[in-house]
Parts: sequence; C-alpha cells; structure tokens
Amino acid sequence: LVASCASDLDVVNAARVSFNVQHEEMEKGDDKLIAYLLREKHGTPFEHTYLRFRVKAPLFVFREWHRHRVGHSYNEVSMRYTRIDPEFYEPERIRTRIGKPGAYEHSDLDVANAVRFRMDVKATTAKAKVNYLHALESGVAPEMARMLLPVNTYSEMIWSCNARSLMHFCSLRNAPNAQFEIREFAKVAENFLEGCMPITHKAFITNDRQAP
Ligand SMILES: Cc1cc2nc3c(=O)[nH]c(=O)nc-3n(C[C@H](O)[C@H](O)[C@H](O)COP(=O)(O)OP(=O)(O)OC[C@H]3O[C@@H](n4cnc5c(N)ncnc54)[C@H](O)[C@@H]3O)c2cc1C
Repeated sequence: LVASCASDLDVVNAARVSFNVQHEEMEKGDDKLIAYLLREKHGTPFEHTYLRFRVKAPLFVFREWHRHRVGHSYNEVSMRYTRIDPEFYEPERIRTRIGKPGAYEHSDLDVANAVRFRMDVKATTAKAKVNYLHALESGVAPEMARMLLPVNTYSEMIWSCNARSLMHFCSLRNAPNAQFEIREFAKVAENFLEGCMPITHKAFITNDRQAP
C-alpha cells in the first residue's frame, strides 16, 4: 500500500451528508450504520475512499486482475518502453486438480512429476531470458522481443481502487475457487482494507463477504 485516504469515518460522513451532518470522529452507532449500508447494498458511501498499491506479480496474475474494471485504475511497466531484466515466478508447490470447472479440488502433484515440472519451468524461463536478451541485443524492438517471454514473467503495476471495488475484488479473488496465486495477493490487499477500515471490513465479513 503506497497511499490511502480510506477510513470508516469517510463512509459514515458520505452517508450522513444526506442529512447535512458531518462527524469529526466515529460515534456510537456508526458501526451499525456501516453494517446497514453494506447489508442493504447502499454502496456509494464506500466509494469515497482511495487505496493505491504497487504490485509485482506474474503476467498471468495480472491477466486475471485486470478483468476487474469498475472502480479500478491500472498503470503497468511498459515492455515497449523499457528493457526489463526478466524475473520469473517459480511455484514451490505443484498442484493437480480433480473435478469439474467451477468446482475443482486441488492437491499436491506426485513428487516425481512435480520435480519434472519445476525443472521444465526453470529450463523454459532460462531459455526465454537468453532469447529475449539476445533479441534486444540484435536490435529487435522491445515490443517484439517481449513475445519471447512466458506468462510467469513478473511485471509491476500501480493499482488504485476504492473500498467498494476492493471488497468486490476480495469477494471473488480471496475466495476458495480463485486461483492460488491471485488469492495470495487478494489476501494481502484485504489485510490492508482491514487495517484502514476495520469496521467496514468486519461488516463485509458479516455480510458473507458480499460487497455492497
Ligand atoms: C473463479 C473465477 C473464474 C473465472 N473464470 C473466467 C473464465 O474462465 N473466463 C473469463 O473470461 N473470465 C473468468 N473470470 C473473470 C470474471 O468473469 C470477471 O471478469 C472478473 O471476476 C471481474 O468481475 P466483475 O465483472 O464482477 O468485476 P468488475 O469488472 O469490476 O465489475 C464490477 C460489477 O460492475 C457491474 N458491471 C461491470 N461491467 C458491466 C457490464 N458491462 N454490464 C453490466 N454490469 C457490469 C457488474 O455488477 C460487476 O459485477 C473468472 C473469475 C473468477 C473469480
């Protein structure tokens, strides 16, 4: 979290402006107001908040992340304008899965195949890095050279959102059916939400993790 302007009081004051009332600090009953707003889907008071993050994650995680369109802003490192020194995500645990789409269960892949997969990841990314750097050295434009990089290449972005859009993101991505990798990021983002807006976060949990 690099910047925030996000508190429970911001929500209360945004709601109370209907009655031309402004509080300087949280008062008795304000937690109930927040719970009510969240439960009854009065979502707009939660939008008068701002959280800005700097995120470093693999491209395949960003691909999922950027599907969240409403109340989110993104700016990402350009592989057209910069020559990156590629870094790659290498998973520690290799999952296998059973079940139908939408209802998968995951468990650890057997050791022999997991070792083989990890070796393949290392070999593929090492080769990709050599090819990418060679392409740049030989004059290939960076926007073309990046075609050689796999989806586990790390990228960085600035991500801004408000508490309402963050809760929606967390309800979908800090959830059992979200992919492990994005879920790890969503957990951290949710921790920051809890830190900035503990009463809002509590109401979100009580509301079965449904955003207003
Ligand atoms: C477990 C999981 C699996 C997924 N699998 C796939 C997949 O296989 N393929 C795939 O393509 N995507 C997949 N997605 C992405 C998913 O379809 C959404 O794009 C993503 O979760 C963002 O959700 P959202 O549209 O609600 O969020 P936002 O874009 O932030 O939108 C927030 C809300 O605004 C409203 N809204 C936004 N845009 C519109 C619109 N155009 N019209 C009407 N209302 C709108 C909706 O109420 C929406 O919930 C998956 C997501 C998850 C969590």
